[in-house]
Amino acid sequence: KANRKFHPDDSVIDVEGVKIGGGSFAVIAGPCSIESEAQITYCAQRVKAAGASLLRGGAFKPRTSPYSFQGMRSEGLDLLKLARRATGSPIVTEIMNTEHLPLFENVDLIQVGARNMQNFELLKAVGRQKKPVLLKRGLANTLEEFVMSAEYIMAEGNENVILCERGIRTFETSMRNTLDLAGVVMLHKMTHLPVIVDPSHACGHAWMVPQLAKAAVAAGADGLMIEVHNDPAKAKCDGAQSLTPDQFDELMDFIGKEVEFFGKKM
Ligand code: PEP
Ligand code: MN
Repeated sequence: KANRKFHPDDSVIDVEGVKIGGGSFAVIAGPCSIESEAQITYCAQRVKAAGASLLRGGAFKPRTSPYSFQGMRSEGLDLLKLARRATGSPIVTEIMNTEHLPLFENVDLIQVGARNMQNFELLKAVGRQKKPVLLKRGLANTLEEFVMSAEYIMAEGNENVILCERGIRTFETSMRNTLDLAGVVMLHKMTHLPVIVDPSHACGHAWMVPQLAKAAVAAGADGLMIEVHNDPAKAKCDGAQSLTPDQFDELMDFIGKEVEFFGKKM
């Protein structure tokens, strides 16, 4: 179902009226984690004003250490919904467990994170519900495996899948991951599904994010996911890679023109 061979036209995924794919470009932005009502609402307002069409915020966080902040969980989801009410932006947040699905009924785009890309039972479960799914590439997964994971979701009946390249593990250690932009080009050949790029998790350094975001647009990405925090130095998660709202404004000025240059609409 994901194979380009049997479906030559680009798929356009509609997230509450926001279109992604087939010439429609969308930016997802917001903090790594929801930390308080004031924090998520402020970030929501700023990223929307800058031109982002979807709001992200993690409530269930897949942290390497069990002693790190694990997210505000269902309380975080409630705050994210308040931010949606304040701005009108559809919301994107990560699910880690099939048992949590009922909590995600009111989420507009359900994210399956890199660490769960091959959690096949979770893929089947999000495939059995109707909300669109944002599937992130696993830390060490091939493109073939990535597309097969999308296939798991689609095989259950949900064909609304957006792929996200977020960097992979290589021998390089100066960056959190290695952004595979060639993979974006290859994915567009392999599949008709939209492919977006997350430069924030790919490199781990806020100062690099704008250049990688621009390169992703040039590589044909259908959208971007960018972490933006009101006060990155105090962020509970991923502050080092988060842009300030002012930095995000500046980046979006450029991205808007670049998307137009490449003949897409945002
Ligand atoms: C995230 O989007 O905050 C996240 C945890 O991403 P990934 O699954 O790509 O590491
Ligand atoms: Mn993060």
